[in-house]
Amino acid sequence: MMFHKDYDIAVCGGGIAGVAAAVAAARRGCRTVLIEKTIQPGGLAANGLVLVYLPLCDGRGNQLLYGLPEELMRLSNKYGPCRLDENWREKNGRMQVNFSPAACVLALDEVLEESGVTVWLDTVITGVRLEDRRLKAVEVFNKSGFGVIEAACFIDATGDADVTFLSGNACRNSANAMVLWALEHRGAPGKDDIPQDEYAEGVIPVAGSICAAMRADPLKKIFSDGPLSGELVTRFTLEGRRRYRRDLARLGAAKTSRFPVALPAQVPLRRTRAISGRATVTDADEGKELPLTVTKLGDWRAAGRVWEIPYPALLPDNVEGLLAAGRCISAVDSAWEAVRVIPVAAKTGEVAGIAAALSVRQGLTPGALPFARLAKELQTITPPAALPRACKEI
Ligand SMILES: Cc1cc2nc3c(=O)[nH]c(=O)nc-3n(C[C@H](O)[C@H](O)[C@H](O)COP(=O)(O)OP(=O)(O)OC[C@H]3O[C@@H](n4cnc5c(N)ncnc54)[C@H](O)[C@@H]3O)c2cc1C
Repeated sequence: MMFHKDYDIAVCGGGIAGVAAAVAAARRGCRTVLIEKTIQPGGLAANGLVLVYLPLCDGRGNQLLYGLPEELMRLSNKYGPCRLDENWREKNGRMQVNFSPAACVLALDEVLEESGVTVWLDTVITGVRLEDRRLKAVEVFNKSGFGVIEAACFIDATGDADVTFLSGNACRNSANAMVLWALEHRGAPGKDDIPQDEYAEGVIPVAGSICAAMRADPLKKIFSDGPLSGELVTRFTLEGRRRYRRDLARLGAAKTSRFPVALPAQVPLRRTRAISGRATVTDADEGKELPLTVTKLGDWRAAGRVWEIPYPALLPDNVEGLLAAGRCISAVDSAWEAVRVIPVAAKTGEVAGIAAALSVRQGLTPGALPFARLAKELQTITPPAALPRACKEI
């Protein structure tokens, strides 16, 4: 090993969940490192070009997510062109906004810097070191060579549960339909559209001539349903780009007014690998109040549908010293679909960062942290009307 570092908290993966986790922990006085394998924070929201910050509300005018989900939503456009419509309640009942991925990266860099997070970019986690069942260190590789990062507590925000998987904890996989997002220049939006014979297409205007074009299999045919693997990521990515080439080739002369500006640099798989946790959010939990719940959330697919996430869904069932955050928390089926989006990733990141900071301060593992202590902290962020009953009753 060529280098060795030591922190209070190591956040693994710098997507929206990882950024929220690192900021929450650092703001609570912990020496916090964020380890990210690419050179920019944001994960799918940056490198995946996903640019719709889905709602913080229940679709019926009630905001449910407060704290970092809202702060990051507003920051996503600090250097960008779109604005949250402050009259969202009256207009359409959805508190959501589009953003430019590049502008979002600049703002995320800034909030990490201002919060005092140490950021390690271009650093990939390649292994773990466990003592008994407790995670003590992660092994990394970057331009300095191989290194070891020790911490009192770790947060797996890799989106794919890489740290949990490498630790030997059980994980779950999910099926995925083919999808490709690209940023396109469109000189005359709508005029030069490709005939839709093979792929359903959604076009999301960002600003001016820039749009996000989404092409997905209209029949939502399953492309992958095996375990996440290097082979799957490569095959999925190449097939998406192959289909895009085929569409673009049909443009002919229109290609001067419509062409790709950026392609995803992270595979656009929505649900890849999630931890098997000490609790799991399942379809039967929809609309229910659950014990040890840390947040409520609306369902981006249907107004009025509400879910809760229990704290143990962030805890791998067989490893200590580790929390999960973001789209790899313990959830299945339709429940996983509800929790895997940007605002919820920000919330579970924030909760994981707070829980890690409280645990480290008390010399406990996150699994041994009294729920009452966490709930008390969450009460300072969320107004009573949006707090889950489990947090209010403390
Ligand atoms: C096609 C598609 C469309 C979507 N549409 C929307 C939408 O419209 N609105 C919405 O809100 N959500 C949408 N989502 C979902 C949303 O974008 C993601 O679920 C969310 O951004 C996940 O955030 P995350 O931080 O949990 O994970 P990720 O964004 O995946 O971040 C994980 C980070 O960890 C890093 N990492 C991974 N492994 C390692 C490692 N071994 N070492 C170091 N770093 C590592 C990655 O580089 C990445 O930066 C969409 C997703 C897809 C794929």
